[in-house]
Amino acid sequence: MNDKVEKLIIIGSGPAAWSAAIYAARATLDPLVFEGAMTEENRMQGTLPLGQLALTTEVENYAGFPSGNMKAFVESAIDDEQKYLLPPVHEEPHAVTGPELMNLMRQQARNFGTRIVTDDVVATDLSKDIFEVRTLEGNTHRCRTLIVASGARANYLGLDTEEAYKNRGVSACAVCDGALPRFRNKPLAVVGGGDSAIEEATFLTKFASKVYLIVRRSEFRASKIMQDRVLQNKKVEILWNHEVLEVLGFEKGGVNGLRLHHNKENRDLTIEVHGLFLAIGHTPNTTFLGDQVELTDKGYIRWTTLSRTYTSVPGVFACGDVADDYYRQAITSAGTGCMAALDAERLLAEHDEL
Ligand code: NAP
Repeated sequence: MNDKVEKLIIIGSGPAAWSAAIYAARATLDPLVFEGAMTEENRMQGTLPLGQLALTTEVENYAGFPSGNMKAFVESAIDDEQKYLLPPVHEEPHAVTGPELMNLMRQQARNFGTRIVTDDVVATDLSKDIFEVRTLEGNTHRCRTLIVASGARANYLGLDTEEAYKNRGVSACAVCDGALPRFRNKPLAVVGGGDSAIEEATFLTKFASKVYLIVRRSEFRASKIMQDRVLQNKKVEILWNHEVLEVLGFEKGGVNGLRLHHNKENRDLTIEVHGLFLAIGHTPNTTFLGDQVELTDKGYIRWTTLSRTYTSVPGVFACGDVADDYYRQAITSAGTGCMAALDAERLLAEHDEL
């Protein structure tokens, strides 16, 4: 057990966590951030440090980053000893990429004195005024306020064959992986009927010869405008009332087909595809909280007060995708991260603990 009681601990390393850290560090809260561990398990479930944005390409809608000479900017802003964290920055003018944006935010937080630990928080004790967080490496840290910014991860179907072909044709992020050579000019499949599935299917038509959109019901969950868009796209074939039974493929080449079930006509069929993209929602990362913080019906942390990041535990604040199943944008996450830091600062000030 570390004897020191921190003013603020932040759990997470996406835009919400870094924005909270920047505000908190500038307000002399001396934040300690747990950014997650570099484990194989985290890699497989998409919860490595720097969050979901680290799995994306260009971020064209984060205000303040129009297309430009990012290489010069990124390389001048990031400390030399941190550059190993950066994927290669390409020369052509481009809008900031997800990994660049996350490394820039992380750097900005460090510049104001944020301390960063590359470890997972695996358990918390929020039952007393001083909170405790326990890490995967077995350390315990204590704090007066806690900001939970642990994000969400993509869902998978849970098939053994899906697991076997992850990174060899099975992906939960079309934007991250769709442009890979293995998917070029090949038939691909997307599973899901929400806005994400339509967005991913539409995106994949840039590279694929054809995209099957596999929907388990006879209607979409997506918004009307997105439905219209995909229904007009000639490269997309919608397979209504279908479910994936098995991912087919071979050891070396990866995915080469899917065995499907038509749940209305009760028959099975096989289609040839060279990629399977899941877009069936997300699961917020809250396991380490146990049942100590109130969650919504969908498992997200419940904000208990309008326009505040308060949770059901006074002194614990939530921000970003772990508390938001609706907007889920980098910029909205950053905004709520700022709010959480201000909420923590005000609570500490009320108790003369700044
Ligand atoms: P979502 O709206 O919850 O949709 C999930 C879809 O996956 C549903 O069609 C669901 O089917 C299907 N599904 C769930 N589990 C499944 C399974 N085991 N097998 C097959 N299908 C399964 O999730 P989302 O599309 O990620 O969107 C989340 C939020 O972000 C929404 O509020 C959405 O509007 C928003 N968003 C907006 C945009 C945009 O406007 N550009 C883009 C992306 C996301 P059922 O319908 O049968 O349950």
